[in-house]
Amino acid sequence: MSTIKERLDKVTAQLSEGVHLVAVSKFHPVEELQEAYDAGQRFFGENRAQELIAKAPLLPKDIRWHFIGHLQKNKVRAIMPHVSVIESVDSVKLLQLIEKEAARIDRTVDVLLQLHVAQEETKSGFSIDEVLEAGEAGQLTEGLPHVNVCGVMAMASLTDNMEQVAEEFDLVRRTYITLKDGCFDESPYFNELSMGMSDDWQVAVKYGATLVRIGTAIFGPRKY
Ligand SMILES: *Cc1c(COP(=O)(O)O)cnc(C)c1O
Repeated sequence: MSTIKERLDKVTAQLSEGVHLVAVSKFHPVEELQEAYDAGQRFFGENRAQELIAKAPLLPKDIRWHFIGHLQKNKVRAIMPHVSVIESVDSVKLLQLIEKEAARIDRTVDVLLQLHVAQEETKSGFSIDEVLEAGEAGQLTEGLPHVNVCGVMAMASLTDNMEQVAEEFDLVRRTYITLKDGCFDESPYFNELSMGMSDDWQVAVKYGATLVRIGTAIFGPRKY
């Protein structure tokens, strides 16, 4: 069995400059996160509000927490003091609520727009049409002084068919460029493309990922 440090080193050694690793630590105990932290890891991803809120106070303050799961509206206030990046913004309503809660505690928060490109209906996210329409209507850029929209996030279909995965990542990349050129051309923040997990991150990087979110390949299988 390799250690968390060995697995982290193996992944990070393969990442080119400009691609950052979010270590997806959901369902893993804080001791394992601390081990990754001691090996130099600073970005961690959690997908449940409760778990993030429980873990954050037990770990070093300079960790940058990425929220990557479906975010219920009644949980936004609770995660706001802890989170660095909310990667899973899947509606204009949620974006507006994040603005309100960030303003309430006088902070600015980074977010990504989650796009739905996978076949599974259970995955959340804006459809491509929805996100482009919201962009054209100014809903992603106007009236959001406490939110920096930093790019997009997506998950590919759960499949061994890497051609399909590649097509989905390519669609995400093209949508990112359309948004960047269309409504974020004056934003200094809109630079991130978060895609790729343990089984498909090499493909994601080929399609321009700047953030990869990797859990199993670092921490091992999750015990649900
Ligand atoms: C769990 C999760 C990951 C990591 O998945 P692995 O296959 O364990 O690498 C990445 N992104 C999101 C949104 C997740 O929920």
